[in-house]
Amino acid sequence: MAAPAAQSRTSEAPEAIRVEGLHKSFGPHEVLKGVDLTAHEGDVIAVIGGSGSGKSTMLRCINFLETPSAGKIVIAGEEVRQRPEGGAADRRQIERIRRSLGMVFQNFNLWTHKTVLDNLIEVPVHVLGVPRAEATERAMTLLARVGLAEKAGAYPAFLSGGQQQRAAIARALCMEPKAMLFDEPTSALDPELVGEVLAVIRALAAEGRTMILVTHEMKFAREVASHVVFLASGLVEEQGPPEQLFGAPQSPRLQQFLRSVG
Ligand code: ADP
Ligand code: MG
Repeated sequence: MAAPAAQSRTSEAPEAIRVEGLHKSFGPHEVLKGVDLTAHEGDVIAVIGGSGSGKSTMLRCINFLETPSAGKIVIAGEEVRQRPEGGAADRRQIERIRRSLGMVFQNFNLWTHKTVLDNLIEVPVHVLGVPRAEATERAMTLLARVGLAEKAGAYPAFLSGGQQQRAAIARALCMEPKAMLFDEPTSALDPELVGEVLAVIRALAAEGRTMILVTHEMKFAREVASHVVFLASGLVEEQGPPEQLFGAPQSPRLQQFLRSVG
């Protein structure tokens, strides 16, 4: 049920990501029940909500790691052609769109048998055909930006969790994504390593990158988000600017959620 104060906003910037009436079921279990969300270019949208509310499923539907059961996903004005009843999805379109969205997972998902540098250049070189020297140069610039230049030749197992997550962010940036999707990027980290990853995300937000950030770091969400969306039981229960959502939550469920994490 939408809260009375649920509120969307308008922005002058072009639309980057639009989700309309997104439904997703796993068997009989309806996880997303009609989610709407729009990110304009430069928006930092923080998605908050309890465990199991559908946050990861929503992000995974946005880049087609999951196939939506119903609804529309529009990326930079391009609607993704869902598989019509029984038919095949347009794989090439989905691959192209997925590459335009940099996804960062809770558990880093680096290739363990590749060095950090090879993790960054694998797809650019072997899938996109970028010359190795060019991909390497870009990768090294990005590794320097996340403070990992000296770890380029290391294997992920020799990195701390914070370093692995910074490498994963650099790897996503290597694809020159139109937007970044973060799924609880600091949840798997020891507390002392959270700050270094948040610092990288903060810098990306400051340079105007479009991002959707699922996070349990409420203080951070309040600081960097331009807009906050509270998901509950597969629906947007309340949304608005951070000062409103955190400062004057309207829905009882959001009030209770904030008390429980606060
Ligand atoms: P959140 O990220 O908000 O914690 P999720 O999107 O991961 O929530 O999960 C929402 C619900 O969907 C949970 O009940 C979860 O068990 C279920 N779910 C997620 N992925 C799958 C899947 N691949 N198959 C079956 N159920 C799933
Ligand atoms: Mg999740």
